[in-house]
Amino acid sequence: MKKVVILGGGIAGVESAIFLRKYKFDVELISDRDYFYIYPISIWIPTKEKRFEDVIIPLKNLADAHGFKFTQDKVLKVEKDSFTLEKSGERKDFDYLIVALGQSKLKHKGIENTYSICSNPDETLKYSEKLDEIIKKGKGKLAFGFGGNPKAKESVRGGPVFELLFNVDYYLRKLKVRDKFELTFFAPMPKPGERLGENALKMMDMMFKRLNIKSITGKKITEFTPEGVILEDGTKIESDLTCFIAAGDGHSAVKAGNLPQTEAGFIVIEPTNQVKGVENVYAVGDCCSLEGPEWKAKQGHLAEVMARNTAFNIALKENLEKGDPKTYIEHINILCLMDMGNGGGLAYRDDKRALLLPLPIIGHWMKKGWGVYYKLSKLGKIPRLPGM
Ligand SMILES: Cc1cc2nc3c(=O)[nH]c(=O)nc-3n(C[C@H](O)[C@H](O)[C@H](O)COP(=O)(O)OP(=O)(O)OC[C@H]3O[C@@H](n4cnc5c(N)ncnc54)[C@H](O)[C@@H]3O)c2cc1C
Repeated sequence: MKKVVILGGGIAGVESAIFLRKYKFDVELISDRDYFYIYPISIWIPTKEKRFEDVIIPLKNLADAHGFKFTQDKVLKVEKDSFTLEKSGERKDFDYLIVALGQSKLKHKGIENTYSICSNPDETLKYSEKLDEIIKKGKGKLAFGFGGNPKAKESVRGGPVFELLFNVDYYLRKLKVRDKFELTFFAPMPKPGERLGENALKMMDMMFKRLNIKSITGKKITEFTPEGVILEDGTKIESDLTCFIAAGDGHSAVKAGNLPQTEAGFIVIEPTNQVKGVENVYAVGDCCSLEGPEWKAKQGHLAEVMARNTAFNIALKENLEKGDPKTYIEHINILCLMDMGNGGGLAYRDDKRALLLPLPIIGHWMKKGWGVYYKLSKLGKIPRLPGM
Protein backbone atom coordinates (compact mmCIF):
# COMPACT_ATOMS: atom_id res chain seq x y z
CA MET A 1 0.00 0.00 0.00
CA LYS A 2 1.14 3.59 -0.69
CA LYS A 3 2.68 5.49 2.23
CA VAL A 4 1.10 8.74 3.42
CA VAL A 5 2.91 10.94 5.93
CA ILE A 6 0.85 13.52 7.83
CA LEU A 7 2.58 16.46 9.54
CA GLY A 8 0.55 17.69 12.55
CA GLY A 9 -1.67 15.90 15.07
CA GLY A 10 -4.51 18.41 15.43
CA ILE A 11 -8.09 18.37 14.16
CA ALA A 12 -7.03 18.25 10.49
CA GLY A 13 -4.15 15.76 10.86
CA VAL A 14 -6.06 13.27 13.01
CA GLU A 15 -9.15 13.32 10.76
CA SER A 16 -6.88 12.77 7.72
CA ALA A 17 -5.23 9.77 9.40
CA ILE A 18 -8.58 8.21 10.42
CA PHE A 19 -10.03 8.49 6.91
CA LEU A 20 -6.87 7.40 5.07
CA ARG A 21 -6.79 4.27 7.21
CA LYS A 22 -10.29 3.41 5.99
CA TYR A 23 -8.63 2.89 2.56
CA LYS A 24 -5.84 0.86 4.25
CA PHE A 25 -3.06 3.30 3.31
CA ASP A 26 0.18 2.95 5.28
CA VAL A 27 -0.14 6.11 7.42
CA GLU A 28 2.42 7.82 9.66
CA LEU A 29 1.39 10.89 11.66
CA ILE A 30 4.17 13.14 12.98
CA SER A 31 3.46 15.73 15.64
CA ASP A 32 5.41 17.70 18.24
CA ARG A 33 2.96 16.99 21.08
CA ASP A 34 2.05 13.43 22.07
CA TYR A 35 -1.60 14.33 22.44
CA PHE A 36 -4.47 15.64 20.33
CA TYR A 37 -5.76 18.86 21.93
CA ILE A 38 -9.45 19.59 21.38
CA TYR A 39 -9.37 23.41 21.28
CA PRO A 40 -13.16 24.01 21.16
CA ILE A 41 -13.68 22.48 24.63
CA SER A 42 -10.46 23.89 26.15
CA ILE A 43 -12.31 27.20 26.84
CA TRP A 44 -13.59 25.62 30.07
CA ILE A 45 -10.16 24.93 31.63
CA PRO A 46 -9.79 28.40 33.27
CA THR A 47 -13.28 28.17 34.81
CA LYS A 48 -12.62 24.62 36.06
CA GLU A 49 -15.44 22.97 34.12
CA LYS A 50 -12.83 20.82 32.37
CA ARG A 51 -9.42 19.58 33.38
CA PHE A 52 -6.51 19.40 30.95
CA GLU A 53 -6.92 15.57 30.80
CA ASP A 54 -10.54 16.03 29.69
CA VAL A 55 -9.65 17.97 26.55
CA ILE A 56 -6.89 15.76 25.18
CA ILE A 57 -6.62 12.35 23.57
CA PRO A 58 -3.16 10.68 23.63
CA LEU A 59 -2.11 10.26 19.98
CA LYS A 60 -0.90 6.75 20.80
CA ASN A 61 -4.50 5.78 21.69
CA LEU A 62 -5.76 7.18 18.39
CA ALA A 63 -2.95 5.42 16.50
CA ASP A 64 -3.86 2.10 18.18
CA ALA A 65 -7.59 2.56 17.52
CA HIS A 66 -7.14 3.30 13.81
CA GLY A 67 -3.93 1.47 12.98
CA PHE A 68 -1.60 4.32 12.01
CA LYS A 69 1.95 4.97 13.20
CA PHE A 70 2.59 7.95 15.50
CA THR A 71 6.00 9.63 15.66
CA GLN A 72 6.72 12.47 18.07
CA ASP A 73 9.07 15.03 16.50
CA LYS A 74 9.11 18.68 15.54
CA VAL A 75 8.86 19.67 11.87
CA LEU A 76 11.39 22.39 11.02
CA LYS A 77 10.89 22.75 7.27
CA VAL A 78 8.48 21.49 4.60
CA GLU A 79 9.62 21.33 0.97
CA LYS A 80 7.91 20.10 -2.21
CA ASP A 81 9.70 16.72 -2.06
CA SER A 82 10.89 16.43 1.56
CA PHE A 83 10.47 17.59 5.13
CA THR A 84 12.98 18.12 7.92
CA LEU A 85 12.50 16.96 11.51
CA GLU A 86 14.34 18.22 14.60
CA LYS A 87 15.39 14.75 15.81
CA SER A 88 15.61 12.65 12.65
CA GLY A 89 16.61 15.19 9.98
CA GLU A 90 15.49 15.25 6.35
CA ARG A 91 13.00 12.64 5.11
CA LYS A 92 11.65 11.81 1.66
CA ASP A 93 10.05 8.44 2.37
CA PHE A 94 6.45 9.08 1.32
CA ASP A 95 4.19 8.67 -1.69
CA TYR A 96 1.88 11.41 -0.43
CA LEU A 97 2.53 14.16 2.12
CA ILE A 98 -0.22 16.00 4.01
CA VAL A 99 0.65 19.23 5.80
CA ALA A 100 -1.64 19.88 8.79
CA LEU A 101 0.56 22.01 11.04
CA GLY A 102 -1.98 24.69 11.96
CA GLN A 103 -0.90 28.30 12.15
CA SER A 104 1.55 30.47 14.08
CA LYS A 105 0.49 33.74 15.72
CA LEU A 106 1.47 37.32 14.89
CA LYS A 107 3.95 38.76 17.40
CA HIS A 108 2.91 42.05 18.99
CA LYS A 109 5.16 44.28 21.13
CA GLY A 110 4.99 43.07 24.75
CA ILE A 111 2.93 39.96 23.89
CA GLU A 112 4.81 38.09 26.65
CA ASN A 113 2.66 40.08 29.10
CA THR A 114 -0.48 38.36 27.79
CA TYR A 115 -1.88 34.83 27.71
CA SER A 116 -3.54 33.16 24.75
CA ILE A 117 -5.95 30.24 24.87
CA CYS A 118 -5.32 29.54 21.18
CA SER A 119 -1.61 28.69 21.14
CA ASN A 120 0.41 26.22 23.15
CA PRO A 121 -1.95 24.49 25.65
CA ASP A 122 0.54 25.38 28.46
CA GLU A 123 -0.56 28.99 28.10
CA THR A 124 -4.16 28.10 28.92
CA LEU A 125 -2.93 26.35 32.07
CA LYS A 126 -0.84 29.39 33.05
CA TYR A 127 -3.82 31.68 32.41
CA SER A 128 -5.94 29.44 34.60
CA GLU A 129 -3.39 29.61 37.47
CA LYS A 130 -3.12 33.41 37.17
CA LEU A 131 -6.92 33.74 37.25
CA ASP A 132 -7.01 31.67 40.46
CA GLU A 133 -4.37 33.93 42.06
CA ILE A 134 -6.30 37.09 41.19
CA ILE A 135 -9.59 35.65 42.42
CA LYS A 136 -7.84 34.77 45.70
CA LYS A 137 -6.75 38.41 46.05
CA GLY A 138 -10.46 39.30 45.98
CA LYS A 139 -10.49 41.98 43.29
CA GLY A 140 -8.91 42.88 39.97
CA LYS A 141 -9.09 44.00 36.37
CA LEU A 142 -9.31 41.46 33.57
CA ALA A 143 -8.96 42.26 29.86
CA PHE A 144 -9.90 40.06 26.91
CA GLY A 145 -9.07 40.85 23.29
CA PHE A 146 -8.09 39.69 19.84
CA GLY A 147 -6.12 41.14 16.95
CA GLY A 148 -6.28 41.15 13.16
CA ASN A 149 -3.95 40.23 10.30
CA PRO A 150 -4.49 42.54 7.29
CA LYS A 151 -2.63 40.00 5.10
CA ALA A 152 -4.97 37.11 6.06
CA LYS A 153 -8.33 38.34 7.36
CA GLU A 154 -9.71 34.79 7.61
CA SER A 155 -7.08 34.00 10.26
CA VAL A 156 -8.63 36.25 12.93
CA ARG A 157 -9.88 34.16 15.86
CA GLY A 158 -12.42 36.04 17.96
CA GLY A 159 -15.02 33.42 18.95
CA PRO A 160 -12.96 31.82 21.76
CA VAL A 161 -12.28 35.26 23.30
CA PHE A 162 -16.02 35.95 23.57
CA GLU A 163 -16.54 32.46 24.98
CA LEU A 164 -13.82 32.84 27.62
CA LEU A 165 -15.04 36.33 28.55
CA PHE A 166 -18.66 35.22 29.09
CA ASN A 167 -17.53 32.08 30.92
CA VAL A 168 -15.24 34.04 33.28
CA ASP A 169 -18.07 36.52 33.91
CA TYR A 170 -20.41 33.66 34.82
CA TYR A 171 -17.73 31.95 36.94
CA LEU A 172 -17.18 35.14 38.97
CA ARG A 173 -20.97 35.48 39.42
CA LYS A 174 -21.16 31.89 40.66
CA LEU A 175 -18.40 32.69 43.17
CA LYS A 176 -20.42 35.82 44.14
CA VAL A 177 -17.44 38.13 43.50
CA ARG A 178 -18.31 39.57 40.08
CA ASP A 179 -18.83 43.09 41.54
CA LYS A 180 -15.19 43.12 42.71
CA PHE A 181 -13.85 42.66 39.15
CA GLU A 182 -13.70 44.95 36.15
CA LEU A 183 -13.99 43.11 32.81
CA THR A 184 -12.97 44.81 29.56
CA PHE A 185 -13.21 43.58 25.99
CA PHE A 186 -10.90 45.16 23.39
CA ALA A 187 -10.13 44.76 19.67
CA PRO A 188 -8.47 47.05 17.10
CA MET A 189 -11.21 46.66 14.48
CA PRO A 190 -14.26 48.95 14.75
CA LYS A 191 -16.75 46.06 14.50
CA PRO A 192 -15.19 42.88 15.93
CA GLY A 193 -17.28 39.83 15.15
CA GLU A 194 -18.93 41.55 12.17
CA ARG A 195 -18.43 38.47 9.96
CA LEU A 196 -21.28 36.91 11.98
CA GLY A 197 -23.61 39.66 10.73
CA GLU A 198 -25.23 42.84 12.10
CA ASN A 199 -27.67 41.01 14.39
CA ALA A 200 -24.82 39.20 16.12
CA LEU A 201 -23.07 42.54 16.69
CA LYS A 202 -26.19 44.04 18.24
CA MET A 203 -26.69 41.01 20.46
CA MET A 204 -23.08 41.07 21.63
CA ASP A 205 -23.40 44.77 22.47
CA MET A 206 -26.57 44.05 24.44
CA MET A 207 -24.80 41.25 26.36
CA PHE A 208 -21.85 43.54 27.23
CA LYS A 209 -24.23 46.18 28.62
CA ARG A 210 -26.32 43.65 30.53
CA LEU A 211 -23.24 42.00 32.09
CA ASN A 212 -21.44 45.29 32.78
CA ILE A 213 -18.50 44.48 30.50
CA LYS A 214 -16.61 47.49 29.11
CA SER A 215 -15.93 47.41 25.37
CA ILE A 216 -13.11 49.36 23.70
CA THR A 217 -12.88 48.81 19.96
CA GLY A 218 -11.53 50.52 16.83
CA LYS A 219 -8.19 51.56 18.36
CA LYS A 220 -4.94 49.91 17.28
CA ILE A 221 -2.86 48.23 19.97
CA THR A 222 0.57 49.83 20.50
CA GLU A 223 1.96 47.60 23.21
CA PHE A 224 1.13 45.18 26.02
CA THR A 225 2.71 45.83 29.43
CA PRO A 226 2.46 44.00 32.78
CA GLU A 227 -0.08 46.70 33.79
CA GLY A 228 -2.30 46.50 30.73
CA VAL A 229 -2.74 47.47 27.09
CA ILE A 230 -1.52 50.72 25.51
CA LEU A 231 -3.61 51.93 22.56
CA GLU A 232 -2.65 54.11 19.58
CA ASP A 233 -4.17 57.29 21.07
CA GLY A 234 -2.03 56.88 24.20
CA THR A 235 -4.90 55.66 26.37
CA LYS A 236 -4.42 52.57 28.51
CA ILE A 237 -6.63 49.64 29.44
CA GLU A 238 -5.57 48.74 32.98
CA SER A 239 -5.40 45.00 33.44
CA ASP A 240 -4.00 42.57 36.01
CA LEU A 241 -4.49 39.68 33.59
CA THR A 242 -4.81 39.99 29.82
CA CYS A 243 -6.02 37.26 27.53
CA PHE A 244 -5.10 38.18 23.97
CA ILE A 245 -5.49 36.05 20.86
CA ALA A 246 -3.24 37.38 18.12
CA ALA A 247 -4.38 36.70 14.56
CA GLY A 248 -2.90 33.71 12.78
CA ASP A 249 0.26 33.88 10.70
CA GLY A 250 1.84 31.27 8.41
CA HIS A 251 3.58 28.34 10.17
CA SER A 252 7.35 28.77 10.58
CA ALA A 253 8.10 25.35 8.97
CA VAL A 254 6.09 26.37 5.91
CA LYS A 255 7.78 29.76 5.73
CA ALA A 256 11.18 28.01 5.91
CA GLY A 257 10.40 25.82 2.88
CA ASN A 258 9.51 26.14 -0.81
CA LEU A 259 5.79 25.29 -0.92
CA PRO A 260 3.74 27.93 -2.75
CA GLN A 261 2.51 30.33 -0.08
CA THR A 262 0.80 33.67 0.42
CA GLU A 263 2.59 36.79 1.68
CA ALA A 264 1.47 35.79 5.20
CA GLY A 265 2.92 32.24 4.83
CA PHE A 266 -0.29 30.25 4.29
CA ILE A 267 -0.07 27.36 1.80
CA VAL A 268 -1.72 27.96 -1.58
CA ILE A 269 -3.96 25.00 -2.42
CA GLU A 270 -6.38 23.89 -5.11
CA PRO A 271 -10.03 23.48 -4.01
CA THR A 272 -9.18 19.74 -3.76
CA ASN A 273 -6.56 20.57 -1.09
CA GLN A 274 -3.68 19.54 -3.34
CA VAL A 275 -0.89 22.08 -2.96
CA LYS A 276 -0.88 24.23 -6.08
CA GLY A 277 1.43 22.72 -8.69
CA VAL A 278 2.72 19.92 -6.43
CA GLU A 279 1.23 16.57 -7.47
CA ASN A 280 1.55 14.50 -4.28
CA VAL A 281 1.49 17.10 -1.49
CA TYR A 282 -1.76 18.21 0.17
CA ALA A 283 -2.45 20.78 2.89
CA VAL A 284 -5.44 20.79 5.25
CA GLY A 285 -6.79 22.96 8.06
CA ASP A 286 -5.53 26.26 9.45
CA CYS A 287 -2.19 26.14 7.59
CA CYS A 288 -3.95 26.72 4.23
CA SER A 289 -4.95 29.93 2.53
CA LEU A 290 -8.72 29.85 1.85
CA GLU A 291 -10.63 30.92 -1.22
CA GLY A 292 -14.15 32.22 -0.77
CA PRO A 293 -16.28 35.09 0.47
CA GLU A 294 -15.02 38.06 2.48
CA TRP A 295 -16.50 36.69 5.75
CA LYS A 296 -14.82 33.24 5.49
CA ALA A 297 -13.14 31.88 8.62
CA LYS A 298 -10.80 29.03 9.56
CA GLN A 299 -12.70 26.57 11.68
CA GLY A 300 -12.42 23.03 12.98
CA HIS A 301 -15.36 21.71 11.01
CA LEU A 302 -13.86 23.04 7.76
CA ALA A 303 -10.50 21.45 8.70
CA GLU A 304 -12.32 18.11 9.04
CA VAL A 305 -14.10 18.46 5.68
CA MET A 306 -10.72 19.22 4.07
CA ALA A 307 -9.20 16.14 5.73
CA ARG A 308 -11.97 13.79 4.59
CA ASN A 309 -11.86 15.26 1.06
CA THR A 310 -8.09 14.79 0.96
CA ALA A 311 -8.38 11.14 1.95
CA PHE A 312 -11.03 10.66 -0.77
CA ASN A 313 -9.01 12.56 -3.41
CA ILE A 314 -5.85 10.51 -2.72
CA ALA A 315 -7.93 7.31 -2.90
CA LEU A 316 -9.33 8.53 -6.22
CA LYS A 317 -5.79 8.98 -7.58
CA GLU A 318 -5.02 5.43 -6.49
CA ASN A 319 -8.21 4.09 -8.15
CA LEU A 320 -9.73 3.14 -4.81
CA GLU A 321 -12.67 5.52 -5.31
CA LYS A 322 -14.86 6.57 -8.21
CA GLY A 323 -16.29 9.97 -9.11
CA ASP A 324 -15.07 13.54 -9.18
CA PRO A 325 -12.54 15.01 -6.79
CA LYS A 326 -14.14 16.62 -3.74
CA THR A 327 -13.61 20.30 -2.93
CA TYR A 328 -13.96 22.36 0.25
CA ILE A 329 -15.38 25.51 -1.38
CA GLU A 330 -19.06 24.55 -1.05
CA HIS A 331 -18.49 23.83 2.65
CA ILE A 332 -17.38 27.33 3.54
CA ASN A 333 -19.71 28.64 6.21
CA ILE A 334 -19.37 29.71 9.81
CA LEU A 335 -20.89 27.31 12.27
CA CYS A 336 -20.14 27.81 15.92
CA LEU A 337 -21.92 26.99 19.11
CA MET A 338 -20.68 29.90 21.17
CA ASP A 339 -20.70 29.04 24.85
CA MET A 340 -21.59 31.65 27.46
CA GLY A 341 -21.20 29.63 30.66
CA ASN A 342 -24.89 29.29 31.46
CA GLY A 343 -26.16 29.03 27.89
CA GLY A 344 -24.96 29.57 24.38
CA GLY A 345 -25.67 30.98 20.96
CA LEU A 346 -25.62 29.17 17.66
CA ALA A 347 -23.78 31.36 15.17
CA TYR A 348 -24.28 30.54 11.51
CA ARG A 349 -23.21 32.35 8.35
CA ASP A 350 -23.37 31.40 4.69
CA ASP A 351 -23.94 33.28 1.44
CA LYS A 352 -27.63 33.76 2.17
CA ARG A 353 -27.95 34.03 5.95
CA ALA A 354 -26.20 35.38 9.03
CA LEU A 355 -27.81 34.47 12.31
CA LEU A 356 -27.07 34.13 15.98
CA LEU A 357 -29.70 32.03 17.68
CA PRO A 358 -29.76 32.38 21.50
CA LEU A 359 -29.92 29.01 23.25
CA PRO A 360 -30.24 29.75 27.00
CA ILE A 361 -29.12 26.86 29.24
CA ILE A 362 -29.47 24.19 26.54
CA GLY A 363 -26.68 25.75 24.40
CA HIS A 364 -24.13 25.11 27.16
CA TRP A 365 -25.17 21.48 27.57
CA MET A 366 -25.24 20.93 23.80
CA LYS A 367 -21.60 22.01 23.57
CA LYS A 368 -20.67 19.88 26.58
CA GLY A 369 -22.44 16.89 24.93
CA TRP A 370 -20.65 17.55 21.66
CA GLY A 371 -17.30 17.38 23.53
CA VAL A 372 -18.10 13.94 24.93
CA TYR A 373 -19.35 12.69 21.54
CA TYR A 374 -16.23 14.08 19.84
CA LYS A 375 -13.78 12.24 22.09
CA LEU A 376 -15.58 8.91 22.06
CA SER A 377 -16.28 8.92 18.31
CA LYS A 378 -12.67 9.83 17.45
CA LEU A 379 -11.53 6.78 19.41
CA GLY A 380 -14.06 4.63 17.54
CA LYS A 381 -15.92 3.85 20.78
CA ILE A 382 -19.25 5.11 19.41
CA PRO A 383 -20.38 5.45 15.78
CA ARG A 384 -19.84 8.74 13.95
CA LEU A 385 -22.87 10.83 13.03
CA PRO A 386 -22.84 11.68 9.30
CA GLY A 387 -20.73 14.80 8.62
CA MET A 388 -19.60 15.17 12.26
C1 LIG B 1 -9.88 27.99 21.94
C2 LIG B 1 -10.39 27.62 20.57
C3 LIG B 1 -11.73 27.31 20.39
C4 LIG B 1 -12.21 26.96 19.13
N1 LIG B 1 -13.53 26.64 18.98
C5 LIG B 1 -13.99 26.22 17.77
C6 LIG B 1 -15.34 25.82 17.60
O1 LIG B 1 -16.14 25.87 18.55
N2 LIG B 1 -15.73 25.35 16.38
C7 LIG B 1 -14.86 25.29 15.32
O2 LIG B 1 -15.25 24.84 14.23
N3 LIG B 1 -13.56 25.68 15.44
C8 LIG B 1 -13.11 26.14 16.63
N4 LIG B 1 -11.80 26.53 16.77
C9 LIG B 1 -10.91 26.47 15.60
C10 LIG B 1 -10.31 25.08 15.43
O3 LIG B 1 -9.86 24.59 16.66
C11 LIG B 1 -9.18 25.15 14.41
O4 LIG B 1 -9.70 25.61 13.18
C12 LIG B 1 -8.57 23.76 14.25
O5 LIG B 1 -7.94 23.38 15.45
C13 LIG B 1 -7.59 23.70 13.09
O6 LIG B 1 -7.06 22.41 13.04
P1 LIG B 1 -5.57 22.15 12.50
O7 LIG B 1 -5.35 20.69 12.65
O8 LIG B 1 -5.40 22.78 11.18
O9 LIG B 1 -4.64 22.95 13.50
P2 LIG B 1 -4.32 22.62 15.03
O10 LIG B 1 -5.52 22.11 15.73
O11 LIG B 1 -3.68 23.86 15.56
O12 LIG B 1 -3.26 21.44 14.98
C14 LIG B 1 -1.93 21.61 14.55
C15 LIG B 1 -1.13 20.41 14.99
O13 LIG B 1 0.19 20.50 14.50
C16 LIG B 1 1.11 20.28 15.55
N5 LIG B 1 2.31 21.08 15.26
C17 LIG B 1 2.42 22.42 15.21
N6 LIG B 1 3.66 22.78 14.89
C18 LIG B 1 4.36 21.64 14.73
C19 LIG B 1 5.71 21.36 14.38
N7 LIG B 1 6.59 22.33 14.13
N8 LIG B 1 6.08 20.06 14.29
C20 LIG B 1 5.20 19.06 14.53
N9 LIG B 1 3.92 19.26 14.86
C21 LIG B 1 3.51 20.54 14.96
C22 LIG B 1 0.39 20.72 16.81
O14 LIG B 1 0.90 20.09 17.97
C23 LIG B 1 -1.02 20.25 16.50
O15 LIG B 1 -1.16 18.90 16.85
C24 LIG B 1 -11.32 26.93 18.02
C25 LIG B 1 -9.96 27.25 18.19
C26 LIG B 1 -9.50 27.59 19.44
C27 LIG B 1 -8.04 27.92 19.60
